[in-house]
Amino acid sequence: MSDQPRIAVTRAELAAARAALDLGAPPGPVVLVPTMGALHAGHERLLRAARTLAGPRGSVVVSIFVNPLQFGPAEDLDRYPRTLDQDVALCAREGVRLVFAPSAAEMYPGGKPEVTVDPGPAGQVLEGEFRPGFFGGVLTVVLKLLHLTRPAIAVFGQKDAQQLALVRRMVTDLNLDVVIEPVPTARDADGLATSSRNRYLSAADRAVALALPRALRAGQARAAEGEGAVLAAARDVLRAEPALAVDYVAVVDPGTFGPAGPGPALLVAAARAGGTRLIDNMPVVLPAQGAGAQDAATGGPAGDAAHH
Ligand code: AMP
Repeated sequence: MSDQPRIAVTRAELAAARAALDLGAPPGPVVLVPTMGALHAGHERLLRAARTLAGPRGSVVVSIFVNPLQFGPAEDLDRYPRTLDQDVALCAREGVRLVFAPSAAEMYPGGKPEVTVDPGPAGQVLEGEFRPGFFGGVLTVVLKLLHLTRPAIAVFGQKDAQQLALVRRMVTDLNLDVVIEPVPTARDADGLATSSRNRYLSAADRAVALALPRALRAGQARAAEGEGAVLAAARDVLRAEPALAVDYVAVVDPGTFGPAGPGPALLVAAARAGGTRLIDNMPVVLPAQGAGAQDAATGGPAGDAAHH
């Protein structure tokens, strides 16, 4: 699998290359992996999952686009890492057929779009609360990429769990003809979820950042005792690392990002280490109501950040 992928920079090039993918007899599924580039082990997992889903006749298409619409005015749009040559080399190794790497002008030919996707209430909490406008920007670009590449399947990482939930909701609410496939979070050996932004971390920042997955694991270990115990355990670990600035810790329903009931839920958190913002999550299975001892004791709400 070392054939070079075709690289499309304009929408016209993409349209021609996309049409060529349908020429097989019969053509296999097109599987899209949307990314912002600076590809790492997490993306590699997505590419491998996509290759398997595409099957021998199908094709994997990767988009690489740092979407200005999802960055706030004080965020890192200008310094976000851009490593296109290495990204294309990784795509070649992973059997990707087509890379779409447009400019902002190519993606937004009318300038900043006036018509955008409204992510609804689940887009306003947690990440949406700390990054106003973020999910509107994400869903708008994802919808555009789906229209441009017309995949049968699109692959998303569970690392960005709220994004995954909102993309699925958009597919349902807007009747999009695409199957969304989730891929588990890739972690480095020390437990930190891989991220393009990890390269901003100094060694000292990284040591601080490790409290995030440690806190999630500590919370996860107490799941059988209920949500209160999960949150208390996670917060204890975070408190022991004061250099980590915590934005939120919460237990949420994985589909709605509202309050979690008994059964599968997500422990989600976001924090900043040395100016770099990190998000992470781990699954928990909560006991039936009243079964968790700590829950009965605290009876409190789900997390630090309110979800309405
Ligand atoms: P990004 O380039 O950061 O926008 O991410 C592109 C895709 O890769 C998204 O679906 C992310 O959820 C996914 N992704 C990023 N980091 C990881 C990771 N550590 N494990 C699994 N998927 C990831």
